[in-house]
Amino acid sequence: MGKVHVIYGNTAHTMVQRLLTTTGVLSSIQPDDAVVIKPNLVVSRRNWQGVNTDPRVVTALVEMLKQQGVSRITVADGSGMGYNATQAFAVCGYQEMAKRYGLKLVDLERDRFVAKSVPIDGPFRSLEIAQTVLECDVLINVPIMKAHSFTRITCALKNLKGVMPRALKTRFHSVDLSRAIVQLNSVLRPDLILVDGLQGDLSSETGQTPVKMERLLLGMNPVEVDSVVADMLGYAPRSIQHIAYSADAGLGTCDLNSIEVMSLNQPTTQVHFQAPVHHSRRFPCQIVAEGACCTCMGNLIFALERLQEQRLLSKQQTFLVGQQAQVPVHGKGMTIAVGQCAVKNSQADVCIDVCPPSAGIIYRRVASALKNN
Ligand code: SF4
Repeated sequence: MGKVHVIYGNTAHTMVQRLLTTTGVLSSIQPDDAVVIKPNLVVSRRNWQGVNTDPRVVTALVEMLKQQGVSRITVADGSGMGYNATQAFAVCGYQEMAKRYGLKLVDLERDRFVAKSVPIDGPFRSLEIAQTVLECDVLINVPIMKAHSFTRITCALKNLKGVMPRALKTRFHSVDLSRAIVQLNSVLRPDLILVDGLQGDLSSETGQTPVKMERLLLGMNPVEVDSVVADMLGYAPRSIQHIAYSADAGLGTCDLNSIEVMSLNQPTTQVHFQAPVHHSRRFPCQIVAEGACCTCMGNLIFALERLQEQRLLSKQQTFLVGQQAQVPVHGKGMTIAVGQCAVKNSQADVCIDVCPPSAGIIYRRVASALKNN
């Protein structure tokens, strides 16, 4: 049985501390180990929020490693096309962090690369991997969970792409990208995965539509972690090619029934919470959000995106989310209560009585209710 831990909230520091302390995952790291932390720093522009790994998550991780006596800590990444990690370190606050904690920052595109033969079938026989990453004792992958325009989602499996030279990263896009990602993951296995799910993007890996999701995830296996993330973003894990291929290649399970999701807490409700206007305008349905957690709202937004892709949304649907969400007096059509709070306080046609319901659960329940309607 796989295991993925989840914690909800918006205090990154406390959340990371609690995740790492409760699970005890750092106890096997020795003080003289060379630790490499690999965030996702795909862009190096000022509005990086929801696109790059939040430095607060990495700072908290560094502090925990320091408490353990670890002194050789490197933060390393190579950015996406048109950007560079050296600049990303500066604009996102990683440079200040490095000064404060005595960290080494490595722009992996400037690293030396070593060719590693690939043990599984796919477009490549060998892949060049940054020496810094290959030579470390402990690799901690710290991706951000978000949508991706080609692969639908990007998280732990795809985040490793940053360890290769630019030319090879570009070649990944001229072959079967999903197979290439699996090949990369057959060569390089992180020791730990800490997912930044505080805020991710709804539709793009480089950011247009950030959504607050207020959660962090921790796991040891990238296929299991990405499968839980896929469900949180509204997809069946098997519908994401690189997850399905990874599972078929024996890198981990993507069967949600074989992955135990351990929640360390419940999301925190907001006293007043209105659905962000840009999201209400994005979808034809009505959204009534009052006293909802950002987590529940974020999951609903991702589910609405999936339902919209399938042309299942209409003006005749009202989604209710949060403690004070009520069916509108002149409401017409189908009402859908999303989450335990909304179910308790409204007499909706469709009740999704889960706290918090993942985008996958919301999508499946609504799609099935519409089919049976
Ligand atoms: S059901 Fe939703 S709004 Fe209610 S506590 Fe759970 S996550 Fe928050």
